[in-house]
Amino acid sequence: ALSHPERRPAVVTGASSGIGAATALLLAAQGHPVALGARRVDKCEELAERIRKDGGEAFAHPLDVGDSGSVEAFTEATKTALGPVEIVVSSAGHLEPDRIHEVDSVEFAAQLNVQLLGVHRLVRAFVPDMVERTRGDIVFVSSDVVRAPRTRMGAYVAAKNGVEGMARAMQMELEGTGVRASILRPGPTFTEMGYSWDPEVTGVVLNEWVSWGLARHSQFLDPSHVADAIVHMVGMPPGSHLTLVEIQPEGPLPS
Ligand code: NDP
Repeated sequence: ALSHPERRPAVVTGASSGIGAATALLLAAQGHPVALGARRVDKCEELAERIRKDGGEAFAHPLDVGDSGSVEAFTEATKTALGPVEIVVSSAGHLEPDRIHEVDSVEFAAQLNVQLLGVHRLVRAFVPDMVERTRGDIVFVSSDVVRAPRTRMGAYVAAKNGVEGMARAMQMELEGTGVRASILRPGPTFTEMGYSWDPEVTGVVLNEWVSWGLARHSQFLDPSHVADAIVHMVGMPPGSHLTLVEIQPEGPLPS
């Protein structure tokens, strides 16, 4: 009863790794054709190939959500390949450790360009069609840092709060349209996030985070857990809406 019986074309951003990749796999396994977007299109192509081998429908196209031209090209190609899109999962994201009074404004703007304006570009690309067709789901992958901000994540926390603010406004604006905008807040999840950090920075950051409770979070979620939540959210029956969901690893909760 959790999944829609229909075939609903879906877009997943950040599909080259982590939560996005796991979500694309699961949506495809449920019978939805998926468009996979990220900058590393080779990784998306590999995943699309795997989905097709398993009998699913998948399409990969380069996508940089920080660039309007790239979003336009991705959108056009997706609509041509899959037809009208009914599910959008916004998972593209990046955390660059900083301290808010030290991060320079160019870097701050660059982070907001990907994490906030990039999400808006995606909304503009797909939501008007959904409204016109009176059905659709858009899931914004936010973070539990909106509830419990941590150190060295200033731009990231600002962007995720921006995304949730936008999503909440959309929830009101979309009332009665048949289109659901939903927020998902994952807790710590084992993905590639942090792979690109300078190891020295990683040490400092982890020490700080352990002091606010990451130690109690000895477990991490697997990306497939988060994907499960997303598929559950978009599969809710018409007339219901999971507006805001937080998922944490089982065990002691962070404060
Ligand atoms: P990963 O680093 O594994 O995945 C991030 C994805 O975003 C990659 O596929 C990356 O692909 C893509 N991406 C980054 N920048 C861009 C861009 N400019 N345009 C298009 N795609 C981009 O991390 P996660 O899977 O953990 O992250 C997914 C989401 O989950 C993020 O929004 C993150 O904030 C959120 N999240 C993660 C948590 C965690 O503990 N891991 C906790 C809470 C939230 P590519 O580099 O190929 O472009």
